[in-house]
Amino acid sequence: CGIVGYIGHREAYPIILKGLKRLEYRGYDSAGIALYDGDDIVLCKTKGKVADLEHKIESEISTKGNLGIGHTRWATHGVPNDVNSHPHYSNSGNLVIIHNGIIENYDSLRKELIKRGYTFKSETDTEVLVNLIEDVQKNDNLKLGKAVQIALNQVVGAYAIAVFDKNKPNEIVVAKLGSPLAIGVGDDEYFIASDASPFIEYTKSAIYLEDEEMAVIRRHKGVKIRKIKDDTLVDPYIQELQLNLEQ
Ligand code: GLU
Repeated sequence: CGIVGYIGHREAYPIILKGLKRLEYRGYDSAGIALYDGDDIVLCKTKGKVADLEHKIESEISTKGNLGIGHTRWATHGVPNDVNSHPHYSNSGNLVIIHNGIIENYDSLRKELIKRGYTFKSETDTEVLVNLIEDVQKNDNLKLGKAVQIALNQVVGAYAIAVFDKNKPNEIVVAKLGSPLAIGVGDDEYFIASDASPFIEYTKSAIYLEDEEMAVIRRHKGVKIRKIKDDTLVDPYIQELQLNLEQ
């Protein structure tokens, strides 16, 4: 399973697609990509190989856009099928998320959200998380980063996530506990991936998030890292990767 993301001046789709191929070695049963096309989120996902996704995408959606996230899934909650594949939308359609890992307390969170009127299309723990983030964001009118932080403090489990809001298409929020997450730092552009292999050809500068850290990545304002639990700001430690080194 793996995650890839991009925000910057290039077309996101080819970077994400190639990145997903580089992460295929990690194993997966489904794949999907969500892009922001300048106006709305476009999303395509499927059970099967990244090559199947590629065929489906190119016949179904426009692949334009400078912001996007991609995922390969190793199903833990819900069978491998198109609906359970990631990315997952929140109920409003404003948020979209990818997630590697397991939300262990998803069932009680899901029941609570159903009481609040949320509905679920998939059987995944991930769709619970994106709606929890939306619920927190709406109730207190919070910025996405804050909402993600509060939601993750209610979660028991493991995750590498990337989420964006179509109303704030200059930022991606990522967080890590248990599953790996690297941020590639370019010139006014940022890459996200499970390891550096999807972005090493574009930048050698990488930040590896530690467990229980999250980052708000803003295209023109850089990366702000915080500890999820106590909200402490963390100075980004940017490593210079060796040529051809694939971690
Ligand atoms: N638990 C999530 C699911 O089943 C993510 C699985 C993964 O790590 O790919 O959809």
